Amino acid sequence: MANVSLRHVYKIYDGGVTAVTDFNLEIADKEFIILVGPSGCGKSTTLRMVAGLEDISKGELYIGDKLCNDVAPKDRDIAMVFQNYALYPHMTVYDNMAFGLKLRKMPKEEIKRRVGEAARILGIEQYLDRKPKALSGGQRQRVALGRAIVRDPKVFLLDEPLSNLDAKLRANMRTEINKLYQKLGTTFIYVTHDQTEAMTMGTRIVVMKDGFIQQVDTPQHLYDLP
Ligand code: ADP
Ligand code: ADP
Repeated sequence: MANVSLRHVYKIYDGGVTAVTDFNLEIADKEFIILVGPSGCGKSTTLRMVAGLEDISKGELYIGDKLCNDVAPKDRDIAMVFQNYALYPHMTVYDNMAFGLKLRKMPKEEIKRRVGEAARILGIEQYLDRKPKALSGGQRQRVALGRAIVRDPKVFLLDEPLSNLDAKLRANMRTEINKLYQKLGTTFIYVTHDQTEAMTMGTRIVVMKDGFIQQVDTPQHLYDLP
């Protein structure tokens, strides 16, 4: 059964820009899908439609068995990690990670357990009382990942999560995200314009160009890897 299914999906922005044209993709449970392509080809728009942050102009989005075109973001079984971290500057790392769960009125003990576990997985336990400005870029991105993990979603959406990091840290975080994927065993959809990330991270790669899917294949086939 496909975990996420996009069927003949289009996005036409107000003003008439067609950002995504006839996007068709069946994503199986526990796949790690990479959406790759040059800037402006529609990757982010596609991801944001899955998240519910953009309306779908035409076509259908299923998450699990459920038609989700009109389902609010908070009622989709997803969590999204953004390029710019989107952390709350006035809150501690703990509160940043706990915030979404508090909104959902989860019991305090359960919140504590989930934040603790996510912090352990990401190696940020010692920073829980700090504010984001007292963290490095890599640590902030871990907190952003942690905030998504605590929600225990079925699908992770990541929009260029490493592009604000320097080259060395990017290489480390590629490995970290691969490990995270192995550990969590959930579906990942990951947007990047970086060939190296595409080659080293996904189980299947979707190459986009001008709003269309150009090619879908494994990294081995696409990049002639051993
Ligand atoms: P990518 O993520 O591949 O860089 P985007 O999905 O951000 O591409 O953008 C795809 C196209 O849609 C681009 O032509 C972009 O200018 C346009 N676009 C993106 N967001 C909007 C918006 N809010 N309103 C109008 N056009 C947009
Ligand atoms: P949080 O990000 O901790 O959930 P927000 O106040 O930023 O807290 O989110 C309000 C709503 O926006 C959430 O209930 C959810 O629907 C959506 N949202 C915000 N951030 C995310 C995220 N990282 N992943 C998925 N949905 C999000």
